[in-house]
Parts: sequence; C-alpha cells; structure tokens
Amino acid sequence: MLTQGMLSESSGSVTGAGALLSILRDGQARTRAELVQLTGLARSTVSQRLDALLSHQWIVPADDAISSGGRPATAFTFNRGARVVAAADLGATHARVAVTDLASTVLAERRVDLPIDRGPEEVLGWLVVTLKELLVETGGELCGVGVGLPGPVSHSSGRPVNPPIMPGWDGFPVPDWLGSRLGAPVLVDNDVNIMALGEHWAARRDVEHLVFVKIGTGIGCGIISERRLHRGAQGAAGDIGHIRVTTSDEVVCRCGNSGCLEAVASGAAIANQLDAAGVEAHGSRDVVNLVRQGNTMAVQFARQAGREIGDVLASIVNFFNPSVIVIGGDMAEAGEHILAGVREVIYSRSLPLATQHLSIRATELGDRAGIIGAAVMVIEHVLSPEAVDLVVSS
Ligand SMILES: [Zn+2]
Repeated sequence: MLTQGMLSESSGSVTGAGALLSILRDGQARTRAELVQLTGLARSTVSQRLDALLSHQWIVPADDAISSGGRPATAFTFNRGARVVAAADLGATHARVAVTDLASTVLAERRVDLPIDRGPEEVLGWLVVTLKELLVETGGELCGVGVGLPGPVSHSSGRPVNPPIMPGWDGFPVPDWLGSRLGAPVLVDNDVNIMALGEHWAARRDVEHLVFVKIGTGIGCGIISERRLHRGAQGAAGDIGHIRVTTSDEVVCRCGNSGCLEAVASGAAIANQLDAAGVEAHGSRDVVNLVRQGNTMAVQFARQAGREIGDVLASIVNFFNPSVIVIGGDMAEAGEHILAGVREVIYSRSLPLATQHLSIRATELGDRAGIIGAAVMVIEHVLSPEAVDLVVSS
C-alpha cells in the first residue's frame, strides 16, 4: 500500500522514474491507469517513466493482466531479480556472506569460522573469493556490496574507527579495497545497525520507530527513527553497553569505566558470574546452553541481566518512544528468560503513554538479521529514487 510517508520520502523527485519504482517496490502489480491516479501525473508521462524502467529491467509486465470489464490492461510489477546484491556480516569469530535479490531474499549463502582479528586483508580476501564463488552459483549483475563489521564505523567513509576487537582494521579503507576487487559500490556499517535494518525491513516495514538490542559478548543497539537508521553525529548512536548501571559500580568494564551495562548483563558478564559461582561457563554460547538445559543459576542470572538491560531500556522508551523493541544477538537464544526480565522492568518503569502500544519481542531473523540488513542497506541505496533517476537518465 502506498502511504504518505513513501511519497514524502521521495520528495524532490516525486515525478521521476525513481519515484514510480518506489511505488511498485511493494510487489503489487499496477496498471498505467492506477499509477496515473496514484501520482497525479499525465498518462503520457507515466508511460514514458514506465518505458525507462522497463528498458533497465527494474520492472516487468505482470503475468496476470488486470481486467476492468473492457479489454484487459497490462499491469507492471517490480523486478526483484533485476540485479543481485552481495551481503556480508563479519562477526568477532565467524563470518557469513550471501548473495540476495533486490527484495533481500537470500539466493546463496556461506558461513565460516573466521576471527576478525586475523586482520582486514585476510578476512576481506576470503570475502572476495567466496563472493565470486557465490556469484557464479547465482548469476546476475552485481549492483552493490553491503558489509557489517563488529565495531564502530564512520558511515561517510566506511572505515572502522578505533575498533576495540579488530587489530589492524583502524582506518582501513574497506569500501575502496573491496570495490576495486568486486567492481561494485561498497557500503559499510557496524553490525548492530545492519541488524536493526534487517529486522525493520523483514518483519516490520510499517513500524516507524524501532530499537534493536543486540545482547551477545557485548551489548549495543540500533535505532530506526521515522523508518530510517539513526546513526547520530559521529555514528556512535545506540552504544548503550557503556551506560552506567548505578547498582553495580564495582564491576570494571573493558572500556575502562566501572558499572557499565555490558559489564553486568552481557553474555560474557553472565558467564563470569556463573564461573565465580562454581558453574563452568566461558562465554555467551555456554550461558545459552546452560539456560536451555534449565540450570537454575543460569536462568536466574539471565533473568537478572534482562532486568538490568530493561532498566536502561526503560529510560530509552521514555526518551525515544519506540513502538517496537527487538531483542537479538547470541543471548536472545536463551529464550524467554532475558525477555521476561526486560519486559518486567520496562512495563513497570516507563511512562504508561510510552508503553501503551509498545511491543517487546525476540528477533525474527535470528542470526540472519545481519545478512538481510547488509543487503537492505545496499538495496535502499541503489533503488533510492535519486539513484534510479540518475541511472535512467544517463
Ligand atoms: Zn564500558
């Protein structure tokens, strides 16, 4: 369905071919007459725009022509197979790459254990080789590459900025290095931001304001505001892991401060608490396994971690008023216990108006959120009305 938001988003080129493509991207087939009515443009203008989109294969005639009593009218629909997109989600210890269509449907995918601290040339070198293999499998013209990294990234340059767990990556020109080898534009962002994009795209495109919280070895969040990613002035928005949790300031965080949320409620923190209590655990995976096995102490600690995270999120709910909070990352697999702790505190601490229609849920994409989000980042860039108008007019 076309909404006012879609029209205003593409303002500046409401009359262009790109704006017409934006309308058709919802997958619904529409006739010339319907598009004339929707846009208010002259029939000849709409026909001209449609021809331009057809010649670039962005759209195709729909199989089922729509009949309105008289002779059947041809309908047109978005061609999701017009190009392919490369998406990579590079984590601290493993990497996942995929080739998708223009609706972010995964066509081919690989996942390997590959520590990010091997450095940019080894990790990105693997990425180039693997993507080329996948592209042979899928075929199709590559229109862009999206990459998620487990550390801060300057959005304008696509370069990592002092990433704590990524030795050798600081300032590395990821877009240039990959772009020259893959022959397509490259967009880079941090993993939490692309996961937020993925969740928003796949499950809740109608949601205006969403917060995605990743709970794994660390804690961070991605913010969707008015259906767009909010990165902040320097790209550091959403770094909730280092908000001080006042009740436990004796715990020292890896950032050097004490009492950070991450130091008391991350998977690594829960593993430390279990270890200290005599239950062997070395990281978030172990915690998840113990919780799943019903280990009472692990369940208790997970629930308490949920409450600590809920405490911080309660303030965020009051401040930002999201309609959806999605909990993801390794620890989301610990099931309802963390979620229960988060809900308990948010619903009791946030303002009633802010929580009236608030939904707090676990991730729907699971460990694919990053891949889908990386593809979405590219698709939104390539299919933006401005970008389509440029291609069509050249
Ligand atoms: Zn910290």
